[in-house]
Amino acid sequence: MDQILRDAIGELAREHDSFYLYDERSVLEQIRRLRKHFPKIDFLYSIKCNPHPQVLESIFAQGFGADAASLGEVLLAQRLGLPWDRIYYSAPGKTPADLREAIRRAILIADSAGEVRRLQSIAEEMGEVVSVGIRVNPDFTFRGEGGQPSKFGIDEAAALELVRNGRYPSLRFTGIHVHLKSQELDAGTLSRYYGRMLRLAERFQELCGGLEYVNMGSGIGIPYSPGEAPLDLDRLGAALEECLSPFRDRYPSTRIIIEAGRFLTCQSGYYITTVLDRKQSCGRTYLVLKNTLNGFLRPSLAKLVERYSPERHPAGTEPLFTGKNAFGILSLREGEPVEQVTLVGNLCTAADVIGEDLPMPRLEPGDPVVLTHAGSYAAVLSPMQFSSQNRPVERFLPAQGQTSPGESCTLRPWRPELAGALPRLISSKRVLAGLRDGIPYPYTEEDGREFIRGILEAEPETVWSWAIFTGEELCGCISVFRQGNIHRQTGELGYYLGEPYWGRGIATAAVGEACRRIFGETDLLRIFAEPFAGNTASCRVLEKNGFLLEGTLRKNAVKDGKALDMKLYSLVKEP
Ligand SMILES: *Cc1c(COP(=O)(O)O)cnc(C)c1O
Repeated sequence: MDQILRDAIGELAREHDSFYLYDERSVLEQIRRLRKHFPKIDFLYSIKCNPHPQVLESIFAQGFGADAASLGEVLLAQRLGLPWDRIYYSAPGKTPADLREAIRRAILIADSAGEVRRLQSIAEEMGEVVSVGIRVNPDFTFRGEGGQPSKFGIDEAAALELVRNGRYPSLRFTGIHVHLKSQELDAGTLSRYYGRMLRLAERFQELCGGLEYVNMGSGIGIPYSPGEAPLDLDRLGAALEECLSPFRDRYPSTRIIIEAGRFLTCQSGYYITTVLDRKQSCGRTYLVLKNTLNGFLRPSLAKLVERYSPERHPAGTEPLFTGKNAFGILSLREGEPVEQVTLVGNLCTAADVIGEDLPMPRLEPGDPVVLTHAGSYAAVLSPMQFSSQNRPVERFLPAQGQTSPGESCTLRPWRPELAGALPRLISSKRVLAGLRDGIPYPYTEEDGREFIRGILEAEPETVWSWAIFTGEELCGCISVFRQGNIHRQTGELGYYLGEPYWGRGIATAAVGEACRRIFGETDLLRIFAEPFAGNTASCRVLEKNGFLLEGTLRKNAVKDGKALDMKLYSLVKEP
């Protein structure tokens, strides 16, 4: 823990007796390492390990897609602005309602033959051909044995047969997904697994008429106990590149995907609890802490496993149990340990023990105790229903000086030649859902020419409109419209991005730049925006740029026959 973290923890501890803190710097550092060693890989973040909205936002802004394990996670990723084709929904036991709801919101990965049949009937009802992936239970394991029974996916032979026999006219099989194991620390084991995965993919390539993606799942682990050596990413990255390059030559358009959960977030998280009492019993010193087993389950579970199985560790218990000494227990007090204490929780069960006879500096009631490795499978696994305690809060510590680590963008003036690129951006029901009515659908190049002509021929100083570019690609539009009469120094802000550009921080950067130009170069004093209340991605873009929420405009719009609330946000020029 560095000083920034200690200060943040100290401050929050004055207010809360149990809380989680997620350090964005650590998340960004882990992402940087993955990108460095795996430059050609597409990454997904496994939402289930930590779905805190700011954590998700930070990760999605770095270009990660979502590995969603439930419909709820699909909807969460969508609300945060990820387009449907960056959300992969893979889980056993999806209900028919899950499938129906998710089919237009995510890339669905079928987990069983029954699910393939259910998807076929849903697609048939819709009268569409739907692209789906298959979760495969392959004929290999991480350790090189043959196939094992599994509740996940479809056995390899059955999956190949299913794709081959063409009995599903409304489905197109476009990808495969395998996830066998988490928390692997051996680069050799992982690279052999990647090699087997690519050979498996080759078996599907011809049958599927070319795969769009091969999702190799997770496995990239982190050292939990001080005795574990970290995974050698240098070696793993090089090994993957070696087996990938011939594959890529043959199938250049197949995306290779790796999922990461804990690798991004585990080490970023701290769980802070407070000493409530100290007491002696038969020569032992107990410190009673707030919300241990119930606030952060795994340290107590680890003690339980240790007590009942001192030699052998149960396998296959991720994410409930990882290994011995997986959680550091720290205090903010300076100085050498002066006593041995047993740390227990405040529940009416003796099972909430997180440390026995640990050497610690002397701690008094009110002192915080910090547990490490609390950024993944931590807050989400807390059994807080038990005993009606207050739930620990979760807080996010943004990386200093970069509140929106998004992609850069530039604002350029409109030119008639840009008309041809507009249909690709606006001809989308999901883009139009965030805008006012009256925009043609489908949108043609001629519509684009008319729009640009309107902008170029407008009275001067009434409309400011820019084309948003990322690199050399046109990706959206942002405009400010001057209002009339007594509102003449007020402007309304509107913007959109094409779907492929969502969730990358581009809108946040564009709004910031547009507002700087308006306040710097015009006489406007106030910029306001009225996003639909349900458009949380857009609301967040405004909030990140310092817009103030002035209120909710109830039933302020009717769209597709529905009355919708809108939010009123504004930014004013400071003198
Ligand atoms: C949980 C899960 C992950 C994440 O595993 P980590 O070990 O946290 O990286 C990845 N893929 C799938 C399919 C999962 O269920």
